[in-house]
Amino acid sequence: MHRYDRLIKLIGAENQKKLLNSSVLVVGAGGLGSAVLAYLSGSGVGRIGISDGDLVELHNLDRQFVHANRVGMNKALSAKLFVETLNSDVVVEVFGEFEEIPVKKISEYDAVVSCVDSILLRHKINEVCFKTKTPLIHAAISGFEGELAVFDFRDESPCYACIYPPIEAEESPVIPPVAGIVGSMQALETIKLLCGFKPLKDLLRMDFKNYELVKIKIAKRENCPVCSKTPL
Ligand SMILES: [Zn+2]
Repeated sequence: MHRYDRLIKLIGAENQKKLLNSSVLVVGAGGLGSAVLAYLSGSGVGRIGISDGDLVELHNLDRQFVHANRVGMNKALSAKLFVETLNSDVVVEVFGEFEEIPVKKISEYDAVVSCVDSILLRHKINEVCFKTKTPLIHAAISGFEGELAVFDFRDESPCYACIYPPIEAEESPVIPPVAGIVGSMQALETIKLLCGFKPLKDLLRMDFKNYELVKIKIAKRENCPVCSKTPL
């Protein structure tokens, strides 16, 4: 019995090989990052980078399950322990803050998954991904709500800055399972992207209190400061 037998039945051996040969940088090892890391490493993504400069705090543990009870440890290091326990085939690279990672290093990854709670940091990740033409899987969560979008910069794609201005907002609490649901969807979109399946083209907004899901068409903004040829 092979570790990936069930997955191979669904996606085929060729696609499983693609996953094993793929590399993904996960920025933020929090609530979204926990689900992303669990499913990407479980599915056999060969190389996973984890970026997080924070330490695990007691109030993180309701949703950031990769950290078990490792309060006080750096989150990227703690998440590495989780990934290596789940699947020792995965090569894990650990980074501190995203801003400190050399751009060249980021460009060597096949995809970046943004799991951070800061809007300004999301903009920085978006800029680097656009410049290096690295596909970006974005998600954000708040309360009972979440959103998801895929910006595949290998093709003509709108970007995060086409949708949102760079304004910092208060960090808002989230119902723990919403972090798991939306993080799982990010992992799913990442696997689809790595295997070459049809990606999500819209911005998906989800309200899990009332189970209202809406797809919003997104397009390149003419004067986007990041991806437009004629920025403001
Ligand atoms: Zn843009």
